[in-house]
Amino acid sequence: MQGLCANRVHNLPWEEDARSGVFVARAARFMLHAQVEAGTLCPITMTFAATPLLQQALPPLFADWRAPLLSDRYDPHQQPGVQKRGLLIGMGMTEKQGGSDVLSNSTRAERLEDGSYQLTGHKWFFSVPQSDAHLVLAQANGGLTCFFVPRLLPDGTRNAIRLERLKDKLGNRANASSEAEFQQALGWALGEEGEGIRQILKMGGLTRFDCALGSHSLMRRALSVALYHAFQRQAFGHNLVDLPLMRQVLGKMALQLEGRRRSCSAWPTPGSSHTTRCGRDSSRPPPSSPSAKREFRSWLRRWRCWVG
Ligand SMILES: Cc1cc2nc3c(=O)[nH]c(=O)nc-3n(C[C@H](O)[C@H](O)[C@H](O)COP(=O)(O)OP(=O)(O)OC[C@H]3O[C@@H](n4cnc5c(N)ncnc54)[C@H](O)[C@@H]3O)c2cc1C
Repeated sequence: MQGLCANRVHNLPWEEDARSGVFVARAARFMLHAQVEAGTLCPITMTFAATPLLQQALPPLFADWRAPLLSDRYDPHQQPGVQKRGLLIGMGMTEKQGGSDVLSNSTRAERLEDGSYQLTGHKWFFSVPQSDAHLVLAQANGGLTCFFVPRLLPDGTRNAIRLERLKDKLGNRANASSEAEFQQALGWALGEEGEGIRQILKMGGLTRFDCALGSHSLMRRALSVALYHAFQRQAFGHNLVDLPLMRQVLGKMALQLEGRRRSCSAWPTPGSSHTTRCGRDSSRPPPSSPSAKREFRSWLRRWRCWVG
């Protein structure tokens, strides 16, 4: 985590003076890391993805979080965000009855006099529960709304979020995911009531980008391990790499990897009219309207993860 934060993999493109090409530089760092250690990617991705939304919509009470959000430090201490040298942000959408269907979320949000909200309900998947805050979907009077829910409140007391248990994730123990209950936890709305999906998808779109990069990195790692083995292992008097059927398998892996790399190059970055352009221009122009970009991102992410 310290290495990832020191290399700004969680926030490099969001600096005020970010240089052109910075999105690509950050993607390259993410992919290099993902090839050796995937367990730390989730907190980095979620923080990366939440930061542009928070830069726009952070509630005034938490305005001082901007500096630690953009820092190059990993700070694991349990302190209010403003006292920390670096922050992590998570995401709480998924509920038992809904899963992908977040409109069926049942967590309730009651507005208080000071403009904050009290959240009551559950989340079935709440990764990186030690994050300094989560962006959480809950039903307010005006509909599904996105809330900023800090782990510790500004006065240093714990927010009323109870972790029921940690998930068993098929052997992945490097990164905790939990089941959580909100027992009148305090949250602050990001955007208007009823705009929850629109707001949280600003984060979700960027997490899809990293899902695609992560799958690509696993494929790259798999190809390099396969090549290493095929070059040094001998069978029937030949190195494996010289046997025709093995060459066919390795060639197919290399082609798929190259195809995925090119699709990553055409990834539409949010809010921009161009793409990441990390490779040569594709013969097919990438989509330009915001809705086409959103669909393109979802499709690319699904396709790349499936092949990976
Ligand atoms: C490792 C891990 C970490 C996670 N961390 C978080 C987290 O931090 N925060 C969070 O909020 N969630 C998190 N999730 C939950 C994740 O977002 C959900 O698993 C996801 O939204 C799918 O919900 P579900 O598992 O209930 O599947 P369901 O929604 O029940 O879907 C079941 C199947 O139906 C398919 N399906 C769903 N809708 C459609 C449709 N309209 N058409 C066709 N097929 C469909 C799905 O592709 C899937 O194959 C995490 C999940 C995992 C595995």
